[in-house]
Amino acid sequence: MAGWKACATAVVSECAPVSSRLPLGRPHSFAVRVSIRNLTKRFGPAWALERISLEIESQELFFLLGPSGCGKTTLLRTLAGFYQPDSGELFFGDKPVNGVPPHQRNTGMVFQNYALWPHLTVADNVAYGLEVRKVSTAERMRRVAEALAIVQMEPFADRTPNQLSGGQQQRVALARALVIQPDVLLLDEPLSNLDAKLRLEMREEIRRIHAQTKITTIYVTHDQKEALSLAHRMAVLRDGHIEQLGTPRAVYRHPVNRFVADFIGETNWLSATVRGCDGGEMTVETDGGVFVAATELSKSPGEKVWLGFRPEAVEIGTDSVNALDTRIAHVSYLGEIEQYRLAMPSGALVKAFEQNPRELRQVGAPLRVHVRPQNCLVLPE
Ligand code: ATP
Repeated sequence: MAGWKACATAVVSECAPVSSRLPLGRPHSFAVRVSIRNLTKRFGPAWALERISLEIESQELFFLLGPSGCGKTTLLRTLAGFYQPDSGELFFGDKPVNGVPPHQRNTGMVFQNYALWPHLTVADNVAYGLEVRKVSTAERMRRVAEALAIVQMEPFADRTPNQLSGGQQQRVALARALVIQPDVLLLDEPLSNLDAKLRLEMREEIRRIHAQTKITTIYVTHDQKEALSLAHRMAVLRDGHIEQLGTPRAVYRHPVNRFVADFIGETNWLSATVRGCDGGEMTVETDGGVFVAATELSKSPGEKVWLGFRPEAVEIGTDSVNALDTRIAHVSYLGEIEQYRLAMPSGALVKAFEQNPRELRQVGAPLRVHVRPQNCLVLPE
C-alpha cells in the first residue's frame, strides 16, 4: 500500500507545460544531470547513507548496485523526495531540490511490485498522472498512446492489470512513469519479480526504451548481470558508502578491493608474496607456484598481496607462464559452459569455466591450466 501511494505521488509529479515538451519517443531534451553532494541519511542511530557524492550525467543510464541493506533504495527514495537527507545537497541540473516535495521533482518511478491500480484499465493507469495534472483529453490520449507504443503495450490498452503477465504489468508501470515525461527516471529493482527468461527480455526492452527516450535513468539492483549488461556507469555500494564508481568493464576488470571483485563476479584468490615488480608486471609466489601479473600496483619484495583471477580467465592447456597442475575435483555441465573445481597440489580449490565444452572430463583426471598475466588481479592484503 505504501509503495502504491508513493507511486501515485511520483506519477502525478509536476511537469513543464505540455506544449514545451518533446514527444516521448524522441531524445528527451529535458533529461538533467543529477548531482549528489555529501549526502547523509540516518534512521535513528544507524547510517543508511554516509557522505555520498555522485555526478550522474544527463541522459545517462546509471546503476546503483550492492548487497541488501547497502543503502540503494534509501538513495533512490531520497532522490525522489520521499526521504529527507540529514545533510548534503541534491541538484537536478542547476536546480537545488532538497526542499522540493516529491510531486514537484518531475521524477518518474517504477517499483519492483509494479504498483498498478487494479481497478483501472492499462490506458487509465497510464493516463492517471496526466488527468491529475489536468492535461487536455486529446493531449492525454495522444501521450498515453505514445507511451504504450514505446513499451509495446498498445494492444492491451483496455485490459486490467490482473489480465496481464508480470512482464506486461512492468511495461505498463514503465509507460506510466514515462508518460509524464520525467526529467529523471528512477527504477527500483524493476525486474526482480520476473522469471529469469523474462528478466533477460525486459533488460533489452529497458535498453531500447532508454536509447529511444534518453531520459536520465537511475536504476537500483542487486543483480550484477543486470548492471553489467545495461549500465553506462555504476556505483557499487556497501554499508551506505560508495566502494567503486565506473563503467561495467572497468569495475569488472579492475575492482578496487575484494568486496567489489566478489560482489560483481566470482574470483579465485590466492595468498601471495611479492618477489619483484618490473615495468607494470609483478612476480608473486603462491601455494600454486610463481605467477606473473600485469598490474600498476607497486610493492616491495616480501610484501603480502592477494592474487586473484576470474574462473573464465582460467584456460585449459599449457603456457610458459602462470601454469597450474591441477586435478579435477568437481565438474558441472551447464550447456554453454562447463564449471570445474580444480584441486591444486596444495589442496586449495580454484574455479574454472570452459566455454563451449566439447570434451568429457572425469573427476580425478589431471588438468593443466594457465592464466594470462593480463587476466590476473593483484590487491593489497
Ligand atoms: P535491499 O536490496 O534489501 O532493498 P537496500 O540496499 O535498498 O537493500 P536500504 O533499503 O536503502 O537498502 O536500507 C539501508 C539501511 O537502512 C538498512 O540497514 C535498512 O535496515 C535501513 N533502513 C531503510 N529504511 C529504513 C527505515 N524506514 N527505518 C529504519 N531503517 C531503515
